Amino acid sequence: MRRRIHARWVDAMLKAESAQPEIKLDQRSRFPAKGESACRSPMQALKSGRQRPAACAVAGEVLVTVSASRTTEASAGKFGPTGRPLPVFPDPQPLLRHGPARVVAVCNQKGGVGKTTTTISLGAALAELGRRVLLVDFDPQGALSVGLGFQPHELDATVYNVLMEAAVTAGDVLFPTKVDGMDLLPSNIDLSGAEVQLVHEVGREFVLGRVLAPLIPEYDVILIDCQPSLGLLTVNALACADGVLVPLECEYFAMRGVALLMETIDKVSTRLSPKLGMDGLLATMYDSRTLHTREVLAGVVAGFGDKVFHTVINRTVRFPDASVAGEPITLFDPSSAGAASYRELAREVLDRWHRAELAGRVSAG
Ligand code: ADP
Ligand code: MG
Repeated sequence: MRRRIHARWVDAMLKAESAQPEIKLDQRSRFPAKGESACRSPMQALKSGRQRPAACAVAGEVLVTVSASRTTEASAGKFGPTGRPLPVFPDPQPLLRHGPARVVAVCNQKGGVGKTTTTISLGAALAELGRRVLLVDFDPQGALSVGLGFQPHELDATVYNVLMEAAVTAGDVLFPTKVDGMDLLPSNIDLSGAEVQLVHEVGREFVLGRVLAPLIPEYDVILIDCQPSLGLLTVNALACADGVLVPLECEYFAMRGVALLMETIDKVSTRLSPKLGMDGLLATMYDSRTLHTREVLAGVVAGFGDKVFHTVINRTVRFPDASVAGEPITLFDPSSAGAASYRELAREVLDRWHRAELAGRVSAG
């Protein structure tokens, strides 16, 4: 089933890529006006008391029961920047206990598409929603660590030491961040050596999974910021992940290389880790004022359909500003549109995971 779905994505993506010059905007789409945020207010409430039927058929699949407090409603008549009816994502229910963590690889072999920004900002937004979050810097450039105010070259031990030295555990190199409930496993340039050194290891694809395993009961979400390549480090991240989140910059070459990424994800899920799934594609650096980015987003939706998050991240200089300050956007400029977008994404992601979990329970039993 998973193979079929992946094959369909790859097919759809290839078709979309070859059809790109002819892409026309969906006539129903309503894109945000100039200056308008792509996302709505983070605190939009559900209409109280509404229930969905116990189970209803949607395109031949069973949509599982969800309680009223978890129901996602489409806002009447509103279309989002992706050209689809815009659902309202509720605030998630508070957790009674923490763990086990869902592990998510934030992955795209293209650089500068917003992987690190998404890891920091989504992590911080999930922590605001009461989730215990661990961010793993798995890029030797250490941008995630820098973006959280750390100086990677000054660190005595990083994720590299955990991978390569049996005596060092992940718990030994964990740092709390400025965000309550969010910790960091930092990296620095040493990690580039691991790619070469791990080649000769037995079970070289599972080294990261082994070192993260003891932390899984401690957290609700572990986000791994991957480096811009599909090498052994990225395969390690995919092999221990439950899902992949793919940020895509809204520019013409966004889709280039996505077929290869999907193939890699497919190979890892069939050969190494059957639990690996696609959590979703996130459009970043969206600028509603340009026809170009709107067409690119329409092309991404044409290729990947519901896998594309409804939440879209606008292009704003506040993100580089926040990186310079070493803080997530949610702390640096809490009332900005960028912070609101990542809070919206956090609710959408939690809603997706919740639905996937319920669907899994239904199919299992
Ligand atoms: P990656 O990790 O994929 O290489 P980054 O998250 O480091 O990408 O982003 C690359 C650059 O783009 C950084 O300077 C970052 O601050 C900036 N950036 C990220 N997201 C946005 C955005 N939505 N709007 C404007 N700049 C952004
Ligand atoms: Mg990065």
